[in-house]
Amino acid sequence: MRKLIFSLYLLAIATAFGSAQQYDLVLAGGRVMDPETGMDAVQNVGIRDGKIVRISSEALDGHRVIHANGLVVAPGFIDLHQHGQDLASQRVKALDGVTTALEMEIGAPDVAEFLKGKEGQSLIHYGTSASQVAARSLAFGTPLPAGTILPKTGPATDQHATPGQIETMLQRLREELDAGGLAVGMGIQYTPGATRSEVIDVFRLAAARGLPVYTHVRSAGRAEPGSAIESVGEVIGAAAITGASLHIVHLNSSCALDSLECLSMIEGARARGLDVTTEAYPYIAGMTAINSAVFSPGWQERLGISYDKIMLPDTGERLTKERFDELHNSSATHYVVIFSNTQELVDKVIQHPLVMIASDGLEGHPRNAGTYSRVLAQYVREKESITLMDALRKMTLMPAQMLERSTPAAKQKGRLEEGADADIVVFDAATISDRATFEKPMEPSTGVRYLVVAGTVLVDEGKIVPNVFPGRALLGPGKHSAWHE
Ligand SMILES: [Zn+2]
Repeated sequence: MRKLIFSLYLLAIATAFGSAQQYDLVLAGGRVMDPETGMDAVQNVGIRDGKIVRISSEALDGHRVIHANGLVVAPGFIDLHQHGQDLASQRVKALDGVTTALEMEIGAPDVAEFLKGKEGQSLIHYGTSASQVAARSLAFGTPLPAGTILPKTGPATDQHATPGQIETMLQRLREELDAGGLAVGMGIQYTPGATRSEVIDVFRLAAARGLPVYTHVRSAGRAEPGSAIESVGEVIGAAAITGASLHIVHLNSSCALDSLECLSMIEGARARGLDVTTEAYPYIAGMTAINSAVFSPGWQERLGISYDKIMLPDTGERLTKERFDELHNSSATHYVVIFSNTQELVDKVIQHPLVMIASDGLEGHPRNAGTYSRVLAQYVREKESITLMDALRKMTLMPAQMLERSTPAAKQKGRLEEGADADIVVFDAATISDRATFEKPMEPSTGVRYLVVAGTVLVDEGKIVPNVFPGRALLGPGKHSAWHE
């Protein structure tokens, strides 16, 4: 059917314009790689009206022809987990090959406001989950301050919710899904007062909407009770009980030294028919707010680390007890880097076939700017522990398939195929490298030569094109249809 429509389309074009310049843009002579079909061949890609309409070994005419000889032409990377949604972050994401960056872990506190603020002003595609953390703060009468996604510790994070508060929270989540939320985002570690029963209630709501739950699990240490193993068990249990799909974010930081055991739990759940997925970023350190519930009393025992494993990103200063107390008690939110994993384990996690790449990006941590290039440089080129096609699958097809649980629009993403959206990265596999470090976390990656977003060239010869905003919203089903439970 697609072929027939396509032939008619070509016929119409040929009739109207003769054979000249059938395409808006042609990427000519690159190594076209598509993880879904397995295509890995030198081809020409014809783009028109934001779509890939032709992939062929024949020469194609276009208003613009980009010669991609010697370069890889792949689907643009899809980052399911990006907190920094400002233009500075979008620029470094684009130079890291990302064409879609979604705030799914926690979610924007106000979906409608988030979408309105980005319309026509986004370099790359965007979208958000509905935030359980924000809904809980609201239900406790202490809405999150503008511009924040995480609450400072207090009653809204630490206390059990009353039945009335839970109903208010669920109602807010329904409204946020109606506004276009793609999923429910739960930062359980940031709301330790949430009971197991409250967690199940939120999963039930997601299941009723047919949408997944993305979650930062309850705790990250090895000490029992409250271990990462227990926390992963909690959310797998909630998924089993309710039928909601479950995506566990940043397995590398949530499970840390027990990452491989957590992966075996996810494999086991999947083998029993549950829809459980996960992701990781290629760094041994995480990052979070020092006045969040992660650092409530007992954190050293829970996380199995001490002050010296915590670093201030701007200065590289390692904390002492005095400095920690000062920052923890400050009313300003300071983000800190936490060294909690080993290189050996992170390497094993990144190469595991179930693990998608997602950055958890925010300013201050090099993962914001360097995640995707780092995987291609370190794992594909240097260690040769992942094939280029498998790395691309982790960055494109797997996250697109995850997103299909939220919107059919994702079926056109993460693929380099005729009919797919023209979200394309063109990079030099021999040189692509991350340059962001803990000292200079916003240094852009090098090696992405071109980035096409919805058919528009956003990165041209390695540089961001000024004043183009081709990014569009990905919306959950609530935005398009009236739901009644
Ligand atoms: Zn997190």
